[in-house]
Amino acid sequence: MKLEQLIAEYRQKPSQGRIFILSGPSGAGKTLLSRKILTLFPDMLLSVSYTTRKQRPQEVDGRDYFFLTPEDFQRKIDQGDFLEWAIVHGQKYGTCRKWVTEKLNQGHDVILEIDVQGAEQVQRQNLPACSIFVAPPSMEILLRRLKGRKNEAEMDIAKRLKNAEAEIQKAPDYQYLIINDVLSEAVEQLASIIRAQRCRL
Ligand code: ADP
Ligand code: 5GP
Repeated sequence: MKLEQLIAEYRQKPSQGRIFILSGPSGAGKTLLSRKILTLFPDMLLSVSYTTRKQRPQEVDGRDYFFLTPEDFQRKIDQGDFLEWAIVHGQKYGTCRKWVTEKLNQGHDVILEIDVQGAEQVQRQNLPACSIFVAPPSMEILLRRLKGRKNEAEMDIAKRLKNAEAEIQKAPDYQYLIINDVLSEAVEQLASIIRAQRCRL
């Protein structure tokens, strides 16, 4: 193959975007990491999930989540609206199939911040998805971050810590692992993964 042909074919890569799945225990830093990544890669988009969880005071409906009643969530399940959905910490969370498909077709890379059950569902579908597990450097630091976020009641924090242990068991199923200790290093690792995926043939 001639160099010109290689470059021409590479540049004609299908314009479909890729999915970047970010999973990991609640409090590991997925939200903060994806916020940083969106400023580094302005063409990337973050999927806004649907949930039955109660809205937190600082959250905005449609920006952080689409907050639904259990009945409305069930209706969307029945209509097949979700690319994936799961029960996490006792509440339902799901990703909008139509939005993700549309954005991928427009050539955007899309970040899905979803739990390990949702990640498994996405990976079973024939989609261009890269899976990344975000872990805290220790359980002590995870607890400190959960407490520092001041979002959850003590009971909810206990539930999230317990769930973290089960989620960590699933980390080996992912393509990449980021240990989110020093934030700038974790951001750089995630950026490198994204850049590497974009160079794939
Ligand atoms: P997740 O989205 O995984 O539940 P968050 O992004 O909300 O986690 O992070 C949990 C808390 O920990 C937040 O208060 C966030 O600012 C903080 N945090 C995240 N990453 C780091 C880091 N590397 N160093 C210090 N604090 C962090
Ligand atoms: P939180 O209630 O702290 O916002 O989110 C709790 C957990 O729910 C997150 O750590 C994330 O793993 C998971 N989650 C958020 N959105 C979705 C989604 O659309 N699908 C799935 N399967 N999990 C989600």
